[in-house]
Amino acid sequence: ENGVQDAKNLRVKLVLLGDSGVGKSCIVLRFVRGLFDPTSKVTVGASFLSQTIALQDSTTVKFEIWDTAGQERYAALAPLYYRGAAVAVVVYDITSPESFTKAQYWVKELQKHGSPDIVMALVGNKADLLDKREVPVQDGIECAEKNGMFFIETSAKTADNINELFEDIVDYASCKLP
Ligand code: GDP
Ligand code: MG
Repeated sequence: ENGVQDAKNLRVKLVLLGDSGVGKSCIVLRFVRGLFDPTSKVTVGASFLSQTIALQDSTTVKFEIWDTAGQERYAALAPLYYRGAAVAVVVYDITSPESFTKAQYWVKELQKHGSPDIVMALVGNKADLLDKREVPVQDGIECAEKNGMFFIETSAKTADNINELFEDIVDYASCKLP
């Protein structure tokens, strides 16, 4: 009658991967704390944050988020974070074709070494920098389709599509999540 019986509490381990500087930490900060800090520091190694959201059907989802460092010297550590993850979010910067190439590297890496039922999302961040765009939206869509990924463009700066990213990934993944 009140829907409580139907409520589920999900726990979702999520890892963010992508080139250094694409905005992974800013996406997490925006999602968890609701703010954007343009002076935020480079991530060293990896950092952990969690955030719980309620979906419309009163299901709650606790995201356990591993935010990794994009630098080469930490690349060997990445498997430690993505191996146990239910969701991998691969981020690029829409103003940086290099970061889009790097995103495709991460997708291949996840396909080769990640869990076979990992849910993958491709995120084009810095969507507020439209006049500096160098990666067409269509390229992101096609890459995601080809690799069976969820796709969205976000801006950690304006908050555009940040909550949607986390909410929609649960919908997208609902059949695969525990
Ligand atoms: P990370 O290395 O992937 O964690 O990237 P950071 O989150 O540290 O962000 C790198 C730089 O990009 C910082 O100077 C941020 O202020 C900037 N940045 C992050 N997200 C956005 C965004 O959505 N829009 C714009 N314009 N700048 C962003
Ligand atoms: Mg970072």
